[in-house]
Amino acid sequence: MRLVVSAPMQRVNVGHKTLADYASIVGRSLADEIRTLAEPLRGKRMLHLSATAFGGGVAEIQYTLIPLLNDVGIEAEWRVIHGRDEFFDVTKAIHNGLQGNPQSLTDEQKDVFMRYNRLNADELEDADEWDLIVVHDPQPAAIRSMLTTTRPRWVWRCHIDLSDPNPDVLEFLLPSISSYDASIFHMHEYVPSAAGLAGAVIWPPAIDPLAPKNMALAPEDAAYIVDQFGIDANRPMLLQVSRFDPWKDPLGVIQAYHEVKSLHPGMQLALVGSMAHDDPEGWEFYNQTVEFAGDDPDVHILSNLNNVGAVEVNAFQVHAAACIQKSIKEGFGLTVSEALWKTRPVIGGKVGGITSQIEDRVTGHLVSSSQECAQRSLEILADPAEARQMARRGKEQVRLRFLTPRLMRNWLALMHHFEGEQVELDFHDARA
Ligand code: UDP
Repeated sequence: MRLVVSAPMQRVNVGHKTLADYASIVGRSLADEIRTLAEPLRGKRMLHLSATAFGGGVAEIQYTLIPLLNDVGIEAEWRVIHGRDEFFDVTKAIHNGLQGNPQSLTDEQKDVFMRYNRLNADELEDADEWDLIVVHDPQPAAIRSMLTTTRPRWVWRCHIDLSDPNPDVLEFLLPSISSYDASIFHMHEYVPSAAGLAGAVIWPPAIDPLAPKNMALAPEDAAYIVDQFGIDANRPMLLQVSRFDPWKDPLGVIQAYHEVKSLHPGMQLALVGSMAHDDPEGWEFYNQTVEFAGDDPDVHILSNLNNVGAVEVNAFQVHAAACIQKSIKEGFGLTVSEALWKTRPVIGGKVGGITSQIEDRVTGHLVSSSQECAQRSLEILADPAEARQMARRGKEQVRLRFLTPRLMRNWLALMHHFEGEQVELDFHDARA
């Protein structure tokens, strides 16, 4: 079958941001270091390719990273590849396989994957006009090996938990990802040992403290907003913000809520989950979650379709008695940093990137079951002052390690590395 495409890849309009606005948050020395690193790179051209401009962590990061890179003189652009449901069904199967799902890919699925990558590769006629092309996650990963270019360095940026992949699915992807000049992972544990990747670099993603989702919001404004979604602002509420995806375990969150509610009858639960356009499976799982929740009027299942946008997510996080991210696999989990940044008590699954953000009982809670999640929720409700103290420590960790300027420094250092300079690439911490 031949695919007919009527338009070029969509260029995402990211608006404008200024590094100077961040200096008082991350410290002047980091802001100065970024400017110093950026100066000799002024005018370099950097293209990012990803599967969606909406929903999920990748889009979240790009909306801040791209304008800030432009602010310091890098000509950064972000494009979204073409795809239809048949392609995104396959890429979701690949995503699941890479996170450990035993289901392998059929020949037909492999063919669909390659066909759409070919289609997008053919569209990238200006590939040789860029200095750096960054390809995010598996969806567009094969584009690089389909193009012969002379100018750009190619980087694969992996956002998923690759610690225990289905070997068949990884093997299918390896020829694509090993053709890059460097690959970036959130954690050392995610680097595929068999891959023989040219340059595996480790750095975590980051959140934007000034974006509408994370900017300061008064508790009374947050209460006013959640009230409009049917939450009783005078009763406590547990929250999970995440895509409707089995790896995020919303059903486990509902189970934990039931246990908490048996001791706190006034408890409410909000599950806020956006629908990403590259995630057709999301609808099916959304329906399962709604069914599992039953007709409890205190369980609120909301999404962008109910007009829950960035400010509303902010309000839910500010208002929650505890923010939960009970994932059973998690590449990083931006929602954890988002909640800590708001000084909220956080309970996270003891998996993947969540363990790099929460130190158990120091900055938040790490759990391995619904029972444990309920238990820690009860502890938070019993001693809110102690929970707040932990969250304060968590916020300081986020400030030092997980805000976008640190991520900018990582990218700029990598660009210097490609210029042949000796630079440290694996730093994760603004203190370093
Ligand atoms: N998110 C959102 N609305 C929702 C659900 C999620 O804005 O209804 C955002 C969330 O705040 C976070 C991102 O989507 O910024 C999810 O990133 P994360 O790393 O937690 O998970 P991913 O979806 O990338 O697996």
